Amino acid sequence: MINRRKFIQASAFTGLATAIGQPLRGNDLHPAIKGKPVVVSTWDAGIRANKAAWDILSKGGRALDAVEKGVMVTEEEQNCCVGLGANPDRDGFVTLDACIMDEFSNCGSVAFLERIKHPIAVARRVMEKTPHVMLVGSGAQQFAVAEGFPLEEQKLSPEAEKAYKDWLIKSEYKPPAINVENKQGGHGPFAPARLSNGEWNHDTIGMVAMDTNGNLSGSCTTSGAGFKMRGRLGDSPIIGAGLFVDNEVGACTATGQGEDVIRVAGSHSVVELMRQGLSPEMACKKVIERIIRIKGPKAKDIQVGFLAINKKGQVGAWSIHKGFEYAIRNQGEERLVKAKFVME
Ligand code: ASP
Repeated sequence: MINRRKFIQASAFTGLATAIGQPLRGNDLHPAIKGKPVVVSTWDAGIRANKAAWDILSKGGRALDAVEKGVMVTEEEQNCCVGLGANPDRDGFVTLDACIMDEFSNCGSVAFLERIKHPIAVARRVMEKTPHVMLVGSGAQQFAVAEGFPLEEQKLSPEAEKAYKDWLIKSEYKPPAINVENKQGGHGPFAPARLSNGEWNHDTIGMVAMDTNGNLSGSCTTSGAGFKMRGRLGDSPIIGAGLFVDNEVGACTATGQGEDVIRVAGSHSVVELMRQGLSPEMACKKVIERIIRIKGPKAKDIQVGFLAINKKGQVGAWSIHKGFEYAIRNQGEERLVKAKFVME
């Protein structure tokens, strides 16, 4: 029985100190920019996703193809956080959200999609084969099936199965206390997810890339917040929130608490700040600070991270809390980089 229906709720939180006004901390290393092409994606799963993207980019392929094929690797991995084996909603159903955007500002999105393995590929079909940008729920599934995508059986990964069973014990819609350093909490108000290798993972992969022609594209795919209300969408399928590409300026993707990314049109805001001349890193930082200002003391309970690239191929990221990292691949080099952050 679900005994809490409050969607986003503040909880007691210990061990964090708001660092606004204090020196910013974090990893000072910046990935060297070695020219086109370049691909970056969120979290450590991005290492494997970037590899698939790189196979396309290094042969002179289009950024759009790279960002689609790249995140399909993560969708295929069937872990707790992205794809069909991921954390379900509170009623036990895995519902997937994804969007994609190219250098011509074409975009496509699917949301609340069930039993389809590659939502990002369906989002691309929406972009290329319909007059629309977004299809949701049964309509999105009907379109996918008509396009030849098989209807799969939902099969939770062992990690997701366990996490859901654990969650059902209390069925609490309440933020876990975030202890990012000890990795004992999540990054949002929902239960955290742990992979079999012991690493904490996150519910989204966002990827942005520049190809050898200097064109930008981006993709974002997720199972959304674990144990969410049925029908809930976060930022990830929303163009301008979870992803935004402007081929004249740059591209950005987001991860973390989707509600708070939507509130500031997160990825679009980062791109607009880059348009005004800010570096990708400074643009991400400004929008993170905006979220913190809006949330006030509750900012300590949520995690949001932005990852951006500009037209020069420079890359930057920023997050509310320590722990956000991104993978970069450039001229064959693959690295995981820790993003700068505002709070421990
Ligand atoms: N942004 C995703 C959502 O709110 C979750 C995540 O990035 O972990 O659905």
